[in-house]
Amino acid sequence: ITDPLTGIHNRGYLMKRGELEMERVRRSIGKQSLSLGCIMLDLDHFKKVNDTRGHVAGDIVLKAVALRLRCCVRQYDVIGRYGGEEFVIFLPDTPFEQSLLVAERIGEKVRSEPIEIEGEQLLITASLGVSCSCEVDNSLTDIIKRADEGMYKAKAEGRDRVAWVNQVPV
Ligand code: GH3
Ligand code: MG
Ligand code: MG
Repeated sequence: ITDPLTGIHNRGYLMKRGELEMERVRRSIGKQSLSLGCIMLDLDHFKKVNDTRGHVAGDIVLKAVALRLRCCVRQYDVIGRYGGEEFVIFLPDTPFEQSLLVAERIGEKVRSEPIEIEGEQLLITASLGVSCSCEVDNSLTDIIKRADEGMYKAKAEGRDRVAWVNQVPV
């Protein structure tokens, strides 16, 4: 359930919870139509942190980022470590525009507070992709894929920002 380094959910449990939330969305179609927001976050130039300050410093950054994510979302949002320095957040009952606001808030939180490592202040940034369930989505994978593509767009546009792709209004 828990990622040992950061204390947030590991990928397996994250996906399990995501599937459950997706099932709630599917059941709601045609009724009061719930939506599931998804944010994919990837730290910018994280390899440089490891290369210049060592992996222990890199680990401290990952822990600090996980803590910040927790601060920025509601109790019932689901936060997990998707890969090395990639995090995913599922936002139940959250439309696209609101998910976008949450992503902006997270980006701001990551960027604005330096992380202290061995007495030095280190500034980091992240690129975030946002998506939200819509009627063409068949699976959780579709939503994650769109958030991932948004994240890559944010990287391509210069990093330290939020982006999205192909989001159909719901
Ligand atoms: P970009 O802005 O394009 O994302 O650049 P990047 O350097 O962040 O991207 P890249 O995917 O090349 O590097 C990710 C690095 O994350 C590679 C690996 O050294 C580091 N990493 C992955 N998992 C861990 C971990 O658990 N601890 C530490 N310290 N580093 C990790
Ligand atoms: Mg990465
Ligand atoms: Mg990265």
